[in-house]
Amino acid sequence: MANNMRYFIGNWKMFGVPKSISILDKINKFVKSDKKFNKKYKVVIAPPYTLVQSYAKFFQNKQISIGAQNCYHKDNFGANTGAISPLMIKSIGTEYVIVGHSDNRSEGDTDVMLKSKVENSLNNKLKVVFCIGENKDHKVSNKTFEILETQIKNALDVRFNFKDIIVAYEPIWSIGTGQIPEPNDLLKTTIFIKKVLNNIFKKKTSTVVLYGGSVDGKNISQFKKLDEIDGFLIGGASKSDENFIDIIKNYYR
Ligand code: PEP
Repeated sequence: MANNMRYFIGNWKMFGVPKSISILDKINKFVKSDKKFNKKYKVVIAPPYTLVQSYAKFFQNKQISIGAQNCYHKDNFGANTGAISPLMIKSIGTEYVIVGHSDNRSEGDTDVMLKSKVENSLNNKLKVVFCIGENKDHKVSNKTFEILETQIKNALDVRFNFKDIIVAYEPIWSIGTGQIPEPNDLLKTTIFIKKVLNNIFKKKTSTVVLYGGSVDGKNISQFKKLDEIDGFLIGGASKSDENFIDIIKNYYR
C-alpha cells in the first residue's frame, strides 16, 4: 500500500562547509514558494556532523529538516573517541538519522550493530532512515530478495515503532554509478520489501520505503508512476540546489 507523504532526503556524505548552507537556503525558499509543494512532501538533508547543529538551528520551524548521516551503535556517552550517539544527535535539534548506509556497512557495520543503532535512535526519539541493498553479485545471482529480507529481519524488530522508520532501498550497484533499476523490477522489489516489513510489524499500514541510487532531475520521471515508492534518498544530486530542486519539480509536475 502506498503512503501519502513523499520524501526527498539528501545525503551529503563528506561534503559541505558552513557556507554551503546557501544550498539549503535556496532549496528551502523553493519549497516555501512553490504552491504545488504542499504538506504532502517532506525534504530532509543530512550534512556531515560538523554542520548538523548550526543547520538544524537555522532551519528550525522551516520547511526542511536536518538529519545526521550515522550514529554510534550503543550507549549515550562513553569512552569512544570520535563517536556520536543518537542522544547527542537528538540534543542538537535534529530529527532524523541515516543508519546502515552501504558506505558504513562496507566499513564494518554489522547487522547486530545496526539493530542497536536503530533501537538506540528510536529510544532517543529520532526518525531512522534505514538503508538496505544488494550488490552486483547478489543481483546477478538472483539473491536480491534473500539479501534484503535478511538485512531487514536482522535489524528491525516488532518492538520498534514502524512509524518512526523509513526504509531506503539502495542497490549498491546503483549508488553513484548512473545505473538505475528497471522500473518494473524496482516496483516488484519495493512491494517485496513492504511485505517483509508488514510481516515483521504485523501491520497492514505500510512502512515508508524510499528508493536511492543515482536519482537525478532527468531519470526521476521514470519513478513518477511507481506509486509504491514513497520518496527518494539522494546522494550526489543533493549537493546542488539546482539539481535537487529539479528532482522535486520533475517528480510532481
Ligand atoms: C547514496 O549514497 O545514498 C546515494 C543514493 O548516492 P547517489 O544518489 O549519488 O547514487
